[in-house]
Amino acid sequence: MTEAARPEPISRVGIGYDLHRLEPGRKLILGGIELAAERGPVGHSDGDALAHAICDALLGAAGLGDIGTHFPDTDPKWKGVSSLLFLERTAAMLAERGLRVAWIDAVVIAEHPKLGPHFSAMREALARALGIPPERINLKAKTNERLGELGRGEAIAAQAVAALAG
Ligand code: MG
Repeated sequence: MTEAARPEPISRVGIGYDLHRLEPGRKLILGGIELAAERGPVGHSDGDALAHAICDALLGAAGLGDIGTHFPDTDPKWKGVSSLLFLERTAAMLAERGLRVAWIDAVVIAEHPKLGPHFSAMREALARALGIPPERINLKAKTNERLGELGRGEAIAAQAVAALAG
């Protein structure tokens, strides 16, 4: 195990979930990178469901509420912004409280595109925004077995768990 991935004593954990509707002609941003796809998320920011789920997991672990409280979709300031900015701001809030990101595990539920080949770039982008080594982020992907909105490619969802030290 690399030094960066070595576990720290955990003080708190949090859970996050997000879902975005997908529509044709929009960019698919996921985990801070753009993927080639026919549909992309509808959202006030860039609609990055993975970044939003991670953000909520981190805020939850720190007892800081949720993403909607800190980055409301009614605020024009956040319109069209990269969701990596939310992660940067969240990391700063954690640091102010002496908390460190010990571990993040997340799963994306999407029928298309195939995500595995992009995980390395996503982990790099997410880790950079959070100021942590990419070894502290684990990503997984599932399809929804072609069932429901997720299975028809009409939406994308993500779940995340974050553990904090400090
Ligand atoms: Mg969202």
